[in-house]
Amino acid sequence: MAIYHVDGQFMPAEKAVIPVDDLAVVRGIGVFDLLRTYDGKPLFLQEHVQRLFDSAKAIKLDLPWSPDHICRVALETLARNDLEEANIRIIVTGGSSPDFMTPQGKPRLIVLVTPLPRLPRWWYDQGVKVITLVSERRIPDAKSIDYLPAAMALQKAREAEAVEAIYIDRRGNALEGTTSNLFALIDGTLVTPGKGILSGITRKVVLAIAQGICPVAVRDLPRKELPKAQEVFITGTNKGLVPVVQIDDTPVGDGRPGPLTRRIMAALEAQMTAPRLSG
Ligand code: PMP
Repeated sequence: MAIYHVDGQFMPAEKAVIPVDDLAVVRGIGVFDLLRTYDGKPLFLQEHVQRLFDSAKAIKLDLPWSPDHICRVALETLARNDLEEANIRIIVTGGSSPDFMTPQGKPRLIVLVTPLPRLPRWWYDQGVKVITLVSERRIPDAKSIDYLPAAMALQKAREAEAVEAIYIDRRGNALEGTTSNLFALIDGTLVTPGKGILSGITRKVVLAIAQGICPVAVRDLPRKELPKAQEVFITGTNKGLVPVVQIDDTPVGDGRPGPLTRRIMAALEAQMTAPRLSG
């Protein structure tokens, strides 16, 4: 049976509840971060907890705990669950507030530990399609619990038989996916946007790997440059690196995962961050 941590206590999943006047329920106010285990051990726990603090700061939510405390609670919640590989979801709610709007310094800490999902092998063998769409309402540097824009964008992606939607900003720059960062190989340089994105932890690992392999540029990536990309891929905690072989109706390169993508994928696997596959 799954054990979650809620507001200072460990409890079975079905008993894990928070008061309904929490700003998370009333207004969708709160932040979270998601990490995974590899060989049963959390990957980049400190980095994810640091990003949780950055997210909280971005929405002006004061956290009354130290990063160490949150790491300890995450580790203990993981230990109380008997899972081979897990996702650890650390959530901080806005807390209860008399005006139903402004956090009053009493956020609630929630840690959910769930089985790590298995992702389809064909994503990695054949590559996937993504769509692009103009994003209207986002706070890119905060992992807000409000994923409504992302959920709607993903629905559009599914309708187009794509696995991810890439946000385009008003100036026409490609930014990132709903739950992933974006990379494109353009004229021999691996380009990834640096502004208007969530600073992905997988992105950082990939950037470090790529720097030893090819020229790398962190810069704006206008959507109109995408059709000339030789290779494109997306990165994220659970998905690792997924090759992108079609953007909207246009194939990327020859429509198959390219050599640089494969090389970085292999390097990521060697660094023990490989996604969990089915089949
Ligand atoms: N961008 C967004 C909007 C995300 O939600 C995620 C998933 N956390 C990412 C990028 C990828 O970040 P990471 O590699 O840290 O999972």
